[in-house]
Amino acid sequence: MIPFNRPPYTGNEDQYVLAAMRSEKMSGDGEFSSLCQKWFEEMLGCKKFLLTPSCTQALEMAALLIDIQPGDEVIMPSYTFVSTANAFVLRGARIVFVDIRPDTMNMDEALIEAAITDKTKAIVPVHYAGVACEMDVIMDIASRHNLFVIEDAAQAMMSTYKGRPLGTIGHLAAFSFHETKNYTSAGEGGGLIINDEKFSIRAEIIREKGTNRNQYFRGMVDKYSWVDVGSSYLPSDIQAAYLWGQLEKCSSINELRLRIWGQYKTGLQCLEDACKLTLPTIPQNCQHNGHMFYIKVDCLETRAGLLSYLKDKGVGAVFHYVPLHSALAGEKFSRFVGKDQFTTCESEKLIRLPVWYGLSDADVKTVIDAVKEYFSTL
Ligand SMILES: *Cc1c(COP(=O)(O)O)cnc(C)c1O
Repeated sequence: MIPFNRPPYTGNEDQYVLAAMRSEKMSGDGEFSSLCQKWFEEMLGCKKFLLTPSCTQALEMAALLIDIQPGDEVIMPSYTFVSTANAFVLRGARIVFVDIRPDTMNMDEALIEAAITDKTKAIVPVHYAGVACEMDVIMDIASRHNLFVIEDAAQAMMSTYKGRPLGTIGHLAAFSFHETKNYTSAGEGGGLIINDEKFSIRAEIIREKGTNRNQYFRGMVDKYSWVDVGSSYLPSDIQAAYLWGQLEKCSSINELRLRIWGQYKTGLQCLEDACKLTLPTIPQNCQHNGHMFYIKVDCLETRAGLLSYLKDKGVGAVFHYVPLHSALAGEKFSRFVGKDQFTTCESEKLIRLPVWYGLSDADVKTVIDAVKEYFSTL
C-alpha cells in the first residue's frame, strides 16, 4: 500500500520535542517558537512572522486585522479549502467567487476587477499546489481600488513568484503546517506573515487574547491588560519544536518533493502526449515547491474509474475540493460572479497522486505504472 500522504518526519524532531517538554515552558512563544519565528522573518524578509495553531486561525487573524465588517465583500476562488472563506464569513463578510484558470487552477486575475463593488475590502489569492497566482496583476488591481491582499499560502512555503517568496507579496499571508503540507508542526499548525508593518503590534495583541502582554514582556508597558478584541492564537512550544526539526532540513524536504514531482511529470508525459490526461503547468516566473502532483482526466467517469483502479492496486490517490459556491454553505454566504467556465468542470477531472517526504523512487514508479496500465485497459 502506498499511502496518499505521510506526515513529514526527518529525524531531529524527537530531540527538540523532548527538549521543549523538559524546558518546563511548553506554552506558546517559548524558545522554539522564537527560533522558528526568527527563521521565517529572516528567510522571508517579512516584517513579522507569528506561529498560529493552524492556517485557518492565521486567516481568521487576518480578517480581524483588516477589520472586516458585516456586509464587506471578499474576492477569492471557489476552488479552495473552506477556511479561506470561513475566516471572513465569521466576521460577517460576503464571499465573492471568481472563476479559475485551467492551467494552474488558481483564480483568474483577469476576472477580479469585474467582481469589485463599493463593498469590496480584500482579495484572497490561493496559491494552489504551491504555484503562484499572477501576483503583479493582483497587487496592481488592489492598489488601484484600495483593497487588501491576503495570500492563502497554505500550500506555498518555499515557492516563489518572480524570485519573491510566496507569502511576502500581499499585505498579510498565511502558511499551514498541517501534516498534509510540506512542513508540519506535529500535525496541526500555521503562521501569519505580516508584510505591512502597520499590522504588527495589533497582530500580537489579537493573538494574545486582546491583551498587550507582548509589549509588557518587552518592557514597553508596566502592566498588561485588555486593550482590543482577540483570541488565543498561539501554538504550544512543543509544536514549534517539531517544526524546528523540519526547518533545519527545509531544503532537503523541498528538493525531495521536487524530485518526486519531476519523476511524475516525466513518467506521465507520454499519456499527455497521447491526449489521455493533462499534467500541471508551472508558469514561467514561478518556482514551485512540489507540494502536489495532480493529473486531470477527461471527465468525472474516467476519474472515478481511475481512482478505484488505483485503490485496487494499493495506491492512495484522491480528488480535491468541491467548489465552495456549489456547497450548502456557499449558497448562504457567497455569490459567483461571471461564468463558472472552469471551476466545476476542472475540479471534477482532478486526481492527486502521492507526494511525501520519504516516498521512494520505486513507489513513484509503481504509481506511474498503475496510471499507465489503467489507460491501456480503456
Ligand atoms: C490546508 C489549507 C488550509 C487550512 O490549513 P489548516 O492549517 O489545516 O488550518 C487553508 N487553505 C488552503 C488552501 C489549504 O490548503
